[in-house]
Amino acid sequence: MTAGAGRRMADAEREALREGLRALGFDEVRFAAAEAEAGAGLRAWLADGLHGDMAWMERTAEKRASADLVLPGVRSVILLGVNYWRDEWRAKGDEGRPLWARYAQYEDYHDTMKPGLEAAGRVLEEMAGITAADYRYYVDTGPVLERGWAARSGLGFRGKNAMLISKKHGNWLFLASILTRVDIAPDEPLRKKPAADGAEPAGLLCGKCTRCLDACPTNAFPAPGVVDARRCISYQTIENRGIIPRELRAGIGTHVYGCDICLEVCPWNRFAQAGRQLLLAARPDLAGLTLQELLELTPARFAEVFRRTAIKRLKLTGLLRNACVVAGNAGDASHLPALRKLAVHESAVVRAHAVWAVRKIAGAGAAELLGAARVGETDATVLAEHAALT
Ligand code: SF4
Ligand code: SF4
Repeated sequence: MTAGAGRRMADAEREALREGLRALGFDEVRFAAAEAEAGAGLRAWLADGLHGDMAWMERTAEKRASADLVLPGVRSVILLGVNYWRDEWRAKGDEGRPLWARYAQYEDYHDTMKPGLEAAGRVLEEMAGITAADYRYYVDTGPVLERGWAARSGLGFRGKNAMLISKKHGNWLFLASILTRVDIAPDEPLRKKPAADGAEPAGLLCGKCTRCLDACPTNAFPAPGVVDARRCISYQTIENRGIIPRELRAGIGTHVYGCDICLEVCPWNRFAQAGRQLLLAARPDLAGLTLQELLELTPARFAEVFRRTAIKRLKLTGLLRNACVVAGNAGDASHLPALRKLAVHESAVVRAHAVWAVRKIAGAGAAELLGAARVGETDATVLAEHAALT
């Protein structure tokens, strides 16, 4: 351990650190004490299987519940928020185009925020007299309960929609964290006297509002603040790489990648201002893509359009699958030729959803339109979709 590790920063140093990190492009910089994080909520969520196939959540559960397992001797957590709201979103309609989660309409934030975090680490090293061994940083994917720490630091509160809500930025924050052995006096949480077990119940500043719970089209909230990932459009269109359950497809509507409904309806967004976006690279072109363009994506075009975005991880087959669901819900017969081609795609997952979409659009005429695709089909899942035609 280096000399600065374990030392309590003076208040003036702490505020200089906050300003130094803000200058790097972080819109929020807050501090929390790294005492044991209450992981009871996470464990109950995992025990109920509400995380679907996200096995990595189980693997990292213990570390998420205790920062000391991630960085022995940790004293403080620095919470960093980057506001990704854009004012143009307030004015523009979607003109019937497929919808993308707002956070995805950027180059992958894990990549664009990383240089900011590296620079933040250097600022911390210099100001606190430590080395890189005395801190660890994460953007979203690490074994850190960022929303829980953020709530403790007063950055915001956990809404009934299970998202971190900032009084200043609404629902539109990317969160990153730095665990460090430097002792930094914590900021006040929004509720000055936290719950006895340290776990603040969701909805601290929601009052009687239930808009997010009521607006979810797939009924994914078994309780306020608890999302059943298996029913959530974000999970189904991004994390699930296989078949989307038939009973959820209609609720997906025109959401081709992720879903913001339970964020958009939140009244706390009234106060959100556009972020400085110093650590983000906007991709406004994505919202302009038509459904027809998506249904006709080739591997080369997919690579060209989605290079450097988080969407590339879904791969072409995942996006074609989602586009088929959106096309089925849109019900526009002009998409039938593209869908019939996808009904003989090399991926069984794509074929299954294309068959479903043709059925949704063409109804009784679907069996005839798909006759050629049915011949030679051997995959049981796709055959089940064909069978549902009759
Ligand atoms: Fe429901 Fe969409 Fe929110 Fe998921 S992201 S819980 S589907 S409203
Ligand atoms: Fe809370 Fe209402 Fe926002 Fe949901 S929509 S998080 S209930 S304030």
